Amino acid sequence: RGRLSFARHERKDEARHALAMRPEILNPLFAALTDLKGVGPQLAKPLARLGLERVVDVLFHLPTGLISRIPVERLDQAQAGQTIIVDLTAQDYRSGRSPRAPFGVEAVDGAGDHVRLVYFGRTSGLARKLFPLGEKRRVSGRLDLYGDMRQIVHPDHVAELGDETAIAEHEPVYPLTEGLTNARLSQLAEVAIDRRPDLAEWIDAPLLAGRGWPAWREALARAHAGPRDEAARDRLAYDEIFASQVALMLIRQGLRTRKGRAVVGDGRLTSALKLPFGLTGAQERVGREIAGDMAQDVPMLRMLQGDVGSGKTLVALRAMLTAVEAGTQAALLAPTEILARQHHATLQQMLAGLPVNLAILTGRDKGKVRESTLMGLADGSIDILVGTHAIFQQHVAYKDLALVVVDEQHRFGVAQRLMLTDKGARPPHLLVMTATPIPRTLLLANHGEMDVSRLDEMPPGRTPVDTRVVSVDRLDEVIDGLGRHLASGAQAYWVCPLVAESEASELAAAEDRAALLRERFGAAAVGLVHGRMKGPDKDAVMARFEAGEIGVLVATTVIEVGVNVPAASLMIVEHADRFGLAQLHQLRGRVGRGTAKSVCLLLRSQNLSETARERLALMRETNDGFVIAERDLELRGGGELLGLKQSGDADYRLAIPEQLVRLLPVAHDDARLFVERDGGMDGPRGEAVRLCLYLFERDAAVPLLRSG
Ligand code: ADP
Ligand code: MG
Repeated sequence: RGRLSFARHERKDEARHALAMRPEILNPLFAALTDLKGVGPQLAKPLARLGLERVVDVLFHLPTGLISRIPVERLDQAQAGQTIIVDLTAQDYRSGRSPRAPFGVEAVDGAGDHVRLVYFGRTSGLARKLFPLGEKRRVSGRLDLYGDMRQIVHPDHVAELGDETAIAEHEPVYPLTEGLTNARLSQLAEVAIDRRPDLAEWIDAPLLAGRGWPAWREALARAHAGPRDEAARDRLAYDEIFASQVALMLIRQGLRTRKGRAVVGDGRLTSALKLPFGLTGAQERVGREIAGDMAQDVPMLRMLQGDVGSGKTLVALRAMLTAVEAGTQAALLAPTEILARQHHATLQQMLAGLPVNLAILTGRDKGKVRESTLMGLADGSIDILVGTHAIFQQHVAYKDLALVVVDEQHRFGVAQRLMLTDKGARPPHLLVMTATPIPRTLLLANHGEMDVSRLDEMPPGRTPVDTRVVSVDRLDEVIDGLGRHLASGAQAYWVCPLVAESEASELAAAEDRAALLRERFGAAAVGLVHGRMKGPDKDAVMARFEAGEIGVLVATTVIEVGVNVPAASLMIVEHADRFGLAQLHQLRGRVGRGTAKSVCLLLRSQNLSETARERLALMRETNDGFVIAERDLELRGGGELLGLKQSGDADYRLAIPEQLVRLLPVAHDDARLFVERDGGMDGPRGEAVRLCLYLFERDAAVPLLRSG
């Protein structure tokens, strides 16, 4: 699942662990969909594209629309534009002159009033089969007037009489994808609903009644009946938020009750760092907060938020040096190979001349090099280790790890954060850094277990990026502009559209774009990186871009985090309206790193909604990530879960932003009462809440509790 971004075998371990602990009553919900009758690999594919792999996924995949059909006896009881159910008898067929003309079925209702059923495309065979002449059928569809003739284009259901339930008056409409019909998904939803067990109630009875919410089982049935049942939907969203809040509190509690170690430096390394500039006020302040935490024997759990370019690396380095001064080790975890190497290079440069032993470890290091790194970690001769998640694999043993820094934290879920602190007898201090400006609401929602520091001041001497929104009609002009930019010796990024439905088409779009630009600027001037490339290939292209050998780098969003190429001063983002604002802000942060004035061109689709327009305008108006994040959440309001996913907060699948904002404070308070007043997992509500945690897969916190 999206939340677990670790290597596959680790994911499997985690799944096995969950299985061993999960209350049995939930097992039917966690069965694979392919275990169900009639769900084969053919259907599994589109289902997986929607994130639907297990019964529970379908259970939480709620309809977003509702078709209501009006049953009528006679056509003259209905008005044009209404979707109706009516019994009709076919009298005649009408084929058009050309094969592409629509095929018509002339039909009458019980009173002899006439309607034409219209089929486009090569569907005459189907139409003849559905409507044998002279036989009555129950039909539903939208009644339209064509001139003064009634017609129904592509009736949505045709049923033989006698099967009275064949056409529902109300039909929920689910989010779909190619290869999956609403009817099929509705059937699966029915199976899922049937399987839902009767669970002990985790919400206090008086609270439940006071809020006017249905019981869990009823809430699910009602939420699947259509999108408008607010009480049912709120209850389910609340459950999810509550589970997440309880988990975060338990994690915090669990970690805080484990004794950590006080790490106090003597300043001999931090003061020996040679910097061509002074610290910003924010860096000073945050540095003190971190040092203060590390000096306690309670493990630090701190998030460092700072916009791209705000100088997080230096803050992290100073914290790591403090650990080294105290005779312990520190580790810096990066989400990708590229970033790990870049961090390693940067730190190596900054540490030149200091008696600090820095090493790197990624999944790609093998053989002797790897062996010697592992030895150095075990005997303590390595002071600071930089790497990908490989640095936390089971067989990697540290002599004395006292500080873990995680960069670009949003790729790591709660479960990962927990695992990080599992190394060693005493949990290390944990500092997670993120450039994603997370609105306060979401901060509490997803990272409520942590303290937060903000780097809210940029180092001096930066010119803000000039952002412009350009319609995609003007693609030619944009490419001309890119030509002039490249001719002047500068470099550029070209980010290709995010295609949610399929990785393959995302790749195709990037390849097409690269081909077009190569035609224009020559093959050597254009590089391409995308998510499907192997690590070394990707790194090779990145290295050539960094060295200035490539003028324009075409990329899917893999460049989103971290890369640093100061000579790149132009960023072009295609279909900018498909990105979350936080993501756009991060992309934009790739430029404006050198002394040259930088430009970011956001190419927008031709027809934009008002909200989409406003969102892009916001990008033009401000460079402040926090302002963008808060405003984006407001603009998104309800409904657009995709936006949340894009901004990296995929932790919720039921709660939409609007519900998160409204229900989070409630769930937060309830979770606190449960943990602090009602005895938590060992109290009378423990068993019920445990079900809720497992149901929403927030169970990473459960074992912790038992031992702590
Ligand atoms: P980020 O927060 O995006 O990780 P970095 O740590 O990469 O930012 O810093 C961005 C750039 O700013 C680096 O080149 C770094 O050397 C520089 N920098 C960091 N702190 C300062 C400062 N106080 N004054 C001037 N430049 C700084
Ligand atoms: Mg950084």
